[in-house]
Amino acid sequence: MKSMADVSGVMEYLPDMEVSDNTLMDKVLNAAALYVPSRYTAGDVHRALEAAECSVEDFAALLSPAAMPFLENMAQKAREMRMRYFGNSVYLFTPLYIANYCENRCLYCGFNAHQKIKRARLSIEEIEKEMQAIAETKLEEILILTGESPAMSNLEYIGEACKMARNYFRVVGVEVYPLDSKDYAYLRHCGADFVTVFQETYDPLRYGELHPGGRKRVFPYRFNAQERALGGGIRGVAFAALLGLRSDFRRDALATGLHAWFLQRKFPQGEISFSCPRLRPLAGNRTMQHDEVGEAELMQIICAYRIFMPFAGITISSRENARFRDNVLGIAATKISAGVDVGIGGHAGSASGDEQFSIDDNRSVKEIREMILKQGLQPVMSDYVYV
Ligand code: SF4
Repeated sequence: MKSMADVSGVMEYLPDMEVSDNTLMDKVLNAAALYVPSRYTAGDVHRALEAAECSVEDFAALLSPAAMPFLENMAQKAREMRMRYFGNSVYLFTPLYIANYCENRCLYCGFNAHQKIKRARLSIEEIEKEMQAIAETKLEEILILTGESPAMSNLEYIGEACKMARNYFRVVGVEVYPLDSKDYAYLRHCGADFVTVFQETYDPLRYGELHPGGRKRVFPYRFNAQERALGGGIRGVAFAALLGLRSDFRRDALATGLHAWFLQRKFPQGEISFSCPRLRPLAGNRTMQHDEVGEAELMQIICAYRIFMPFAGITISSRENARFRDNVLGIAATKISAGVDVGIGGHAGSASGDEQFSIDDNRSVKEIREMILKQGLQPVMSDYVYV
């Protein structure tokens, strides 16, 4: 039995945090708590696959173990949806880590405050060099990341990085610590288009165990980040659970989908996307026990997201191997990272900080483009037109 101390402080906002209405969060957490994947039958899955529109109950069936024998049928339906809403387009981007200082203590992460790693924070001049090196590969979309340290990577620093990115890229995403609405509005003003926040797990008890300290321990502030971002004028937001954290990954996938689905109803103009990261080996923390979420289960989750929200983007991470990434692109995913370096300062050849996790696919932008074309798909650097 787990002790109540595991969740102390997890549901309480800190005094300086913007407090949100938790109605949406309560709905998602209630639905996840009531979800019993083993309750679903082959008949439920069959009905879900036949339905013209995927209901929440259909989505739950598609995520259940009963759907595993129907993976091929799910992939066919997902492919049909992908082609209907995205055609053969595949969007490319690359992440740029500008700092790896972090004040949180996530047990599964190589950047956590207790890890003895080489910390670094790029100056604005170094950020520009990284961006120049990335822009030379012809990429037009970038995702700027930091560890979660407001002290070492403050809002102004992130804002300056966004402004700089605007000089080189047409689409700018940020994956930084959760912010208040007014701060997202500021980043939007600086040029940020998209915000990514991974909830990691939607099980508050497990969340409390995995996040023993730091601002990240506050579950609702993180949960409501996408809503504050859209409220602050950010164009689109991305959702993910980190699969393999020894919570129920099917329940986490259901909660991730519902989180995005409810928010889409509240912000119809918001561009929604999913990532589906699995836990990777970490520098200095290779022993954390985790669940193995297999490739078949990962494919099931990705197909279920595609069928449930056919218009949402799905990004396939370089955490996955090349074979899996190539395969899932034609079925359900719409965006892929290329030329990835998860250390600090690696793009311009002057690496100064350690990596967050190890990646499994380190192909260059050119190699990823060629792979996409070989599959009869169309690499797209950006389809935004600014007038
Ligand atoms: S997962 Fe994010 S917040 Fe947690 S330790 Fe790593 S970088 Fe910091």
